[in-house]
Amino acid sequence: MFVKFYGTRGSVAVSTRTAQHYGGNTTCVRVHSACLPEGKWLIVDAGTGIVPLSWDFAAANAESVVILMTHFHHDHTQGLLLTHFPYIKTIPVTLLGPYDHGVGPREVYELLMQPPFFPVHFQEIASHLLCYNIEFANKTAFLIHPRGGMQLLSVEALDRSTQQNGQVAFENGAWPIDECLVIRMYRSNHPEQTISYRFEERPTGRVFVFVTDHENEDSVPARFREHLQGADLLVMDCQYTREKYDRFTAGYGHATPDYVAQVAREVGVKRLGLTHHDPPASDAQIDAIVHTAQRLLSDVEVFACYDYLQLDVEKTSGCSATTDETV
Ligand SMILES: [Zn+2]
Ligand SMILES: [Zn+2]
Repeated sequence: MFVKFYGTRGSVAVSTRTAQHYGGNTTCVRVHSACLPEGKWLIVDAGTGIVPLSWDFAAANAESVVILMTHFHHDHTQGLLLTHFPYIKTIPVTLLGPYDHGVGPREVYELLMQPPFFPVHFQEIASHLLCYNIEFANKTAFLIHPRGGMQLLSVEALDRSTQQNGQVAFENGAWPIDECLVIRMYRSNHPEQTISYRFEERPTGRVFVFVTDHENEDSVPARFREHLQGADLLVMDCQYTREKYDRFTAGYGHATPDYVAQVAREVGVKRLGLTHHDPPASDAQIDAIVHTAQRLLSDVEVFACYDYLQLDVEKTSGCSATTDETV
């Protein structure tokens, strides 16, 4: 399994001379696994980073996209309409995202794709999008099998299938859970319904957890700890310094390095990536946030994610970051 970050900036896309290393695209991550059917790209969020991702997708002659939306704040949605994905009907687009008060992925793009916000009306592309609503993140799982396809089911049904015969029913028959990419979810601590996704690559046992847009809590709740348990790579929102948070931004829905370090320590994470960088933060200021977290976590590898960083999700610790654009 590898992950590639196309957008690591929080709140709004920026382009500044002092943040050339980390970059300015908003959240978009590609998660690649051998469990995905050939030609299918799995993506988390559609911030502005999805625009350069779509160029790589086209260059690779890929065939379909599945986008897991964490939530619908502008910095996580606004890139999609400026890619070719919604307008090429031979590229199937599947969107999954939280559903709250009658609003899910379909309703969000219905709102965004109308005058005066956008020149193309949603109805022109609606038939081409397959949308899934996730009403209860903590009780939902999403499975992908290289030959079976995709299946959304309750955690209860997944556990039952695991205990019974270890197989899950897909559209084209039953397939072993142990051949799947199993995606579990957790409701983050953020305004509006927001989902953190946990990717378990069953054939290799590798686990990647992505927690963006998640604010400090007084403790690490048991259900959150369970969600993070055994992660080979954890990437977490770490937008603010503690000083800025205490003075100005408490309640905005984002975390600080002391809290992220507390979570990593309590859960026993070995590799910790920081993301959702503050728009005004320079490269040097992001480095300082990394150092703060690293000082609190002597035996953990801590780094800040940057645009176009590609990481193998390894079972062992040790950074395997590459900037290889071709994989
Ligand atoms: Zn955000
Ligand atoms: Zn947000």
